Amino acid sequence: MTKQENSDTAGLSRREAMQVGAGALLGAAAVFAAGEVARLAAQGDPQPTPPPATDSRYPMPPSWNRELRQLAPNVYAYTQGGGPGIPSPGVSNTGVIAGPDFLMAIDATQGPLPARGFISAAKQATGKDFGRLINTHHHGDHVNGNQFFPHAEILSHPYCRQECLKAAATTPKMWMPTPGIVDAPEERKLVSPSVTFKDDLTYFIGGTEVQFRFAGPAHTWGDMMAYLPQYKILFAGDVGFFWVAPYANNSYISKWLDICDTIAGWDVDVIVPGHGPIGGKKELAEMANYFRVLGVETRKRYDAKMTPGAAAAEIRLGRFDNWLGPERLIMDVVRWYEEWDGTLTPDYNANAVRQATIEYNQVKAGKKQADQIIPLSRMEALAEAC
Ligand SMILES: [Zn+2]
Repeated sequence: MTKQENSDTAGLSRREAMQVGAGALLGAAAVFAAGEVARLAAQGDPQPTPPPATDSRYPMPPSWNRELRQLAPNVYAYTQGGGPGIPSPGVSNTGVIAGPDFLMAIDATQGPLPARGFISAAKQATGKDFGRLINTHHHGDHVNGNQFFPHAEILSHPYCRQECLKAAATTPKMWMPTPGIVDAPEERKLVSPSVTFKDDLTYFIGGTEVQFRFAGPAHTWGDMMAYLPQYKILFAGDVGFFWVAPYANNSYISKWLDICDTIAGWDVDVIVPGHGPIGGKKELAEMANYFRVLGVETRKRYDAKMTPGAAAAEIRLGRFDNWLGPERLIMDVVRWYEEWDGTLTPDYNANAVRQATIEYNQVKAGKKQADQIIPLSRMEALAEAC
């Protein structure tokens, strides 16, 4: 993200401004911080606000297109476009395996616009409709589009189904206009998977062998990946984040690193990540390095008994500071802390991330880095996806 974009999009709700301001008053820079916070609050509704924490010594991520790309006979990846300065609503990549009678989808995206875009691209390329859909895990940007696959049997790990059922109980009844996700209001329903499997499962779709492999706990406790041995292709779901800061709100990071090491030993040439451009083992190893570098920096501060938010405000990650969505560092630090102090659960600890974000903002306000203050609503919006 550029400086310009960041200053344009820095906004705080009144509630957030009060919280940030209350903390800032404790610091020596209280006058500046309170005034700056008030100015930011006056700008109105919060917008996505990645902090301007890029490092000019390292390359910025590439840009990539939204496209259906054929990877092998009857095998396609559908990537969401992204890159520096490109507004990205956090929609996941997907995959298609075409059989003689029907298509199988790997993930359903986030809502009407991306789901219909994906479905029409797949139908245009193959002339077929979807008969199966696998959800790689329960996050909204992978399952919220399930309702747009009315003829597909939906499969997942049992944990993914259980979390979908929980989320369905509180899912709004209508899709409301949201940039990149929803054009016009329409009926909304979270359709949960109807078939579950715990371990590996193999489909033979036409001539294509598709091995579903359980990866969890890693990104979540219910991660499934699709491995196509004939073509050495892996659809990794959110076990893979390439050039995008990995999102760990429901993760077991050390076990996530283990599965990255395991995949390194597989016969794989092409990896389709849940987020970011198509890559391979090199890109997956880089994502693991993000967590390793973050882990070393976080551990020093954990041992020094800093709070997670204060630690996150201090940590620099070198080349990984340029990855998209850098504010995820806060939730990832929280998750490392929970793993080390024995409080980790499969669930997202919203209170801990919220508290850490407030602490992070207090440090930034105290250092007169108001342009790096992160609206709490931004962090809360992240809780719904990725
Ligand atoms: Zn996810």
